[in-house]
Parts: sequence; structure tokens; C-alpha cells
Amino acid sequence: PTDLNALLDEYMRLAYHGLRAKDKEFNCELVTSLDPQLVKLTIIPQDIGRVLLNLLNNAFYAVREKKKYANSTYKPTVTASTNQIGNKVEIRILDNGIGIPDSIKAKIFQPFFTTKPTGEGTGLGLSLSYDIITKSHNGGLEMETKAGEFTGFVITLPIS
Ligand code: ADP
Ligand code: MG
Repeated sequence: PTDLNALLDEYMRLAYHGLRAKDKEFNCELVTSLDPQLVKLTIIPQDIGRVLLNLLNNAFYAVREKKKYANSTYKPTVTASTNQIGNKVEIRILDNGIGIPDSIKAKIFQPFFTTKPTGEGTGLGLSLSYDIITKSHNGGLEMETKAGEFTGFVITLPIS
């Protein structure tokens, strides 16, 4: 059984510090809201870790892009939270970055779909993440977004 709070916290730091090592200018507020009562789940930690890393890297990328055009009051923020709802655990990764326009919403989970320049994205992150969550963990992965405002991904994992 894995402590998902600890896993999320660890990958959040890993993703942020990985980015900061490449771009010293990059700054982002990290907010965590972790359910202290969260039940431990039997998962494949390396696989869930890979999903978290994909979602977090996308979130940091989105706030970095927004910073390029936003005004000086813009405060890049990535929020990660855990919650237990009924017989499910929810993990949310929310960013106040560029958001996703309606025109591409339907494509983001498709393999090789990317809006990033060559070398910065393979377009495989979300399709792989979707497979890990739905096929090998019997869970769900959903997205909510507003173009120019925010994007959130919600992972749900069943408590067996
Ligand atoms: P990649 O990151 O290599 O482009 P992904 O499968 O991780 O591939 O994501 C596919 C596309 O979905 C991204 O290129 C981007 O257009 C969009 N996307 C994913 N996450 C976010 C996010 N948090 N904010 C804005 N756009 C996102
Ligand atoms: Mg990605």
C-alpha cells in the first residue's frame, strides 16, 4: 500500500526542481492540500509517479507560457490535492496557466498530439497517463479547463 500524499509531494518537488535546474528564472507557487486521513492504496508507484510527472510538467509548462504574455500581477500557481470521496481517492493537479481551447480539447488524450515545439513535447504524456490510470489501475482521468485561465486534471482511483 502506497501513501499517495507522500508520492504526490515527492513528484511535485521533483518536477519543479527539474524545471528550475534548466530555467533559473522560472518561479511558481506550489500549493498542496493533502487529505491527512487518506487511505493507502495498492498501486504501482512508478506508474502513478510517471502520470503525476506528466501532469505536473504540463502544468508547469502552461504557467510558464502564460507568464510570457500575462501582466506583472500574474502569479504562476500549481495546486495539488488529494481527497477521499466515497470509495474513491481523487488526486487533482490544477494550474492557472494558458488553458486549453475548445478546438483541441477532444484531441489532447490522443497519442502524438502536441501543441509544443519539436523537442519540447512528444504528445505521449496524456495518452500514456490515460492508459496507466484506466487500464492498469481501473481508475479515471478527467480534465476541466478554461482557455487562458486554468486547467485541472482529476485522477480517480478505486479503493478496493
Ligand atoms: P506533450 O506535453 O508532449 O505536448 P501531452 O500528451 O502531455 O503531450 O499533452 C498534449 C497536449 O495537451 C499539450 O501539447 C497541450 O496542448 C495540452 N495540455 C496538456 N496539459 C495541459 C495544461 N495543463 N495546460 C494547457 N494545455 C495542456
Ligand atoms: Mg506532457
